[in-house]
Formats: sequence, C-alpha cells, structure tokens
Amino acid sequence: MDISSQLREIVGEARVSDRPEELFIYSRDSGAQPPRRVDYVVMPKTVEEVQQVVLLANREKIPVTPLGGGFTLSALVVPNRGGIVLDMKQMDRIIEVSEINRYALIEPGISQAQLQSYLKKHHPRLQHSTPEAPPTVTVVGNALIQGHGHISPRYGINSDMVNGMEVVLPTGEICTLGSGSIGPSWFTRGPLPELPGLFIGWFGTTGVVTKLSIKLFPKPAFREVLAFYTDDADLIPQGIFEATQVDLLEDFFLISQEKPEWMNHIFFIIIVSGHFEEELEFKKKAFKRLFDGVGGGGKFTFVENLHPALNKRFLDVPPLAALAADFRKGGGFEYTGAILPIDKVPAAWKRGIEIAHKYGMICSYVHQVLLGHSVMFGFNYSFNRADEKDVEATRQALEESNRTTLDLGGMIWKGELGAQQMMLKHMDPNTVELMQKVKQLLDPNRIMNPGNWEPA
Ligand SMILES: Cc1cc2nc3c(=O)[nH]c(=O)nc-3n(C[C@H](O)[C@H](O)[C@H](O)COP(=O)(O)OP(=O)(O)OC[C@H]3O[C@@H](n4cnc5c(N)ncnc54)[C@H](O)[C@@H]3O)c2cc1C
Repeated sequence: MDISSQLREIVGEARVSDRPEELFIYSRDSGAQPPRRVDYVVMPKTVEEVQQVVLLANREKIPVTPLGGGFTLSALVVPNRGGIVLDMKQMDRIIEVSEINRYALIEPGISQAQLQSYLKKHHPRLQHSTPEAPPTVTVVGNALIQGHGHISPRYGINSDMVNGMEVVLPTGEICTLGSGSIGPSWFTRGPLPELPGLFIGWFGTTGVVTKLSIKLFPKPAFREVLAFYTDDADLIPQGIFEATQVDLLEDFFLISQEKPEWMNHIFFIIIVSGHFEEELEFKKKAFKRLFDGVGGGGKFTFVENLHPALNKRFLDVPPLAALAADFRKGGGFEYTGAILPIDKVPAAWKRGIEIAHKYGMICSYVHQVLLGHSVMFGFNYSFNRADEKDVEATRQALEESNRTTLDLGGMIWKGELGAQQMMLKHMDPNTVELMQKVKQLLDPNRIMNPGNWEPA
C-alpha cells in the first residue's frame, strides 16, 4: 500500500492530504525563508494516531515535522527534506485546569487565544503567559521554543513554566514526564531528572509532544502603563537594573521607532498590576522615584499623558508593540530574537540601527526584559513580500543581526537553519557531540524535523 493510503488508514480520509494546492500553504511560512517541498500533511486527533504515523514514518524512513501555529518566522515547521507535516491543530482539548494548583493540561493544538478565552470564562482569576504573537499560535509550540509572554519579566520564560508533558518518541513509545509520570496531578516537573529538556529547544527533532502542563498565574484586577524615555542608549543597562531591583513589575519592554519623530526615543514601558488600587498607586510612585535617580538623576523623562491609543496597545494582552513595524507595505515582517546579556544592549542597539539603514530600512525596536537577567532583543525588519530584492535584503539583515548577536556573546533565539549553523559553529564541540548522541539515541533513523540542529 502506498504511503498516502497508509496515512489515510490511520487518521481517515479527511485528515490527510497530498494535494498540491493544500501542500502549498505548508511549504512556506510568513517569514523571509524560501519555500520548501512537503509531501503529505496529516492532522491527527489522538495520541494513538500520532504514534501510528510516527511508527509508519520510522519504518519507511520518512521525515516528520510537527507543526503548531507555524509562526516562528524562521521556517522551523517547513520541512527541509520533504515528508510529512504533522499539523497538531485538531488535538485541541483543554484536558484539565487545576485552579488551586494553578496549571492547565492541554493538547498541542490549543492556541494562545483558546486558552486565554477559556480562562477568562471559567477561571477569571488566573492567566497564562501570552506571547505577542498572532492569537492562532500554540501554547505548546511557544513553550517548546523557549518563548516568552506578557508576564515573563515577572515570572520567567514560558518553557520554565512547563510542569511536564506527554511525548511520542521518534521510535513510537508514548512517555510521560514530570509529576504526571508518577501520579494524577501535573503540578510540577521535579524533583526528577530534567527530562523535559530533551524536548524543549530541540525544534521538534526529538519527539512529538501530545500533552503539556503549563503553569497559570494570578490575574490582578488592575493594570496600568508607565512610560519613561531617554535618548542615551548607554543608560539602558542601568535603567533595567534599577527597574528590576524591586519586584514590582508585570511586563517590561523597551520600544523605539525612527518614525514618527516623537517615537524616536528609547522608551521604557513598564506594566504594573495590582489586586487593589492602593497597590497600583504604590507601585507607580516607586517607579517614578527609581527612574528619577537613574544615572545620577534627571536622565529619564516620565510620559505624563500617554496617548490613549498607545495606552490601550500596551495594556492589551498580548500588547501590540511589534506590529507597528510594518512601514514598507507588502505585509512582510521578520525579526531575529537575540537573547542578550543586559550589558550588551547598548552596543546591539547602535549596531541594529546601522544594519537597518544599510538595508534601506527604518529601525524599529521592541525588546522584552526577561526577569532582569537578559533581554529578548528583537532586530525587527519589515519587507515587501512581492519584491524578491527586498526579501533577499531582509535575509541578509537577519544574517548580519545573527552574527552581531554572537559577536556580542548573545544567543540566537528560534533561529532559522543558517542561524542554527552559526550557533553550532560557535558552540563547544563536545556540546555539539553530546547533542548528536542524544539525537542518535532518541531518533536513530533521523526522521524528526531533519536538518535542524544538525551540524553541516
Ligand atoms: C508579530 C509576531 C510577534 C511575536 N511575538 C512573540 C513573543 O512576544 N513571544 C514569543 O515567544 N514569540 C513571539 N513570536 C514568535 C512565535 O510566533 C511564537 O513564539 C509562537 O508562539 C510559536 O508557536 P507556534 O505554534 O507558531 O510554533 P510552531 O512554529 O508551529 O513550532 C515551533 C517549533 O516547535 C515544534 N513543535 C510545534 N509543536 C510541536 C509538538 N507538539 N511537538 C514537538 N514539536 C513541536 C515545531 O516543529 C517547531 O520547530 C512572534 C511572532 C510574530 C509573527
């Protein structure tokens, strides 16, 4: 029986396709990477179906690429060697929300918007950490790529919020990790050997996650935006250090755009929240006092009357910060997320402006401060999708930004293939070898999202 028929036997006629017009959409993402071939798309509904597809792929040595929302912009879900795209969107159950233990156990097709609206309706005092990505992106895809959301500056990156998972290994075994592997409650991932790390940050190359427990957090009733600005990039590290010395903020990002003129400053946007109005008032006063003193005093200006449209944009969950970057028309938006140590932000800031100008772009920045230990520094580029020259310029700008990131001692986050190669070249060779041994052990036939994290 041919592969298509075998896949149909597993998931049924309606959830397999090898028709070019349907494969087209899976052969590209909305970033600047070139399209690539896909042979089949399969939409499983159960863990057993995932298992059967993986067993078939393993037997026939066909590549399998798991897909959530497909929005990393780095083509991580566009297969490098054809094969099956495993589109997880139909595994879309919220299996359990434990209010008292503050976690949600979900399937991998659950989007950020689905979890957010479910919590709003059924558990209004809880929230999850929501990235500023399109609402259709998945909670699982985001946690697996070490993403970050609107409460990450307070609670940490989203992969740190994973309590455990169920995963189908590339050889077909179904395995549970975290407290769910021992008892009925998915409330923690330890104290146990750190096995979830075998699937986090691996870009779907080590298995297919079919359930995941994610932490939930209190949702305060009151929130407000505070905006301070400076024009001195060298003050950024000190400003971040002071603002994060006190444990008072919920979200914290830096934003700047060369146009319009009034946005061409370095804005520190701080979201404070509180369960009581007095709590909010106290926090607002504290931040004003702190910023008054940064750099010897008088270096930051408080924005007294933030425009209501901006106020709303920043207070929305997720905030709409990066969307402002589309100046070029043609709908293309790309960014390489650099995870930088805080002391390197001024150098990256200046270099980023040079790179944008070199490729004829306007510089626009959004960087999120992660817990006060690092910054997700977005080198943002908007481009015209219909103009191949513009797309190529964007690829070059991304490459140059990635090189800058590594030169500054930072890490490239969610990197496309070229970026992964750069990271592997910079990496301790013994670490690369260890990664390859882990990969060989879990995926001896190298079927899972091949090409990713593979040394050239
Ligand atoms: C405008 C914009 C703003 C953004 N802002 C943010 C932001 O603030 N924070 C942030 O973190 N990200 C942001 N992103 C990046 C990205 O969209 C998100 O991180 C998103 O949540 C990724 O989830 P996804 O479902 O699209 O993942 P996918 O692209 O579908 O998958 C990501 C990786 O995980 C693997 N994978 C997916 N599902 C599984 C599974 N079940 N089992 C095993 N492997 C799997 C895939 O193979 C792939 O390698 C932004 C993107 C855009 C376009």
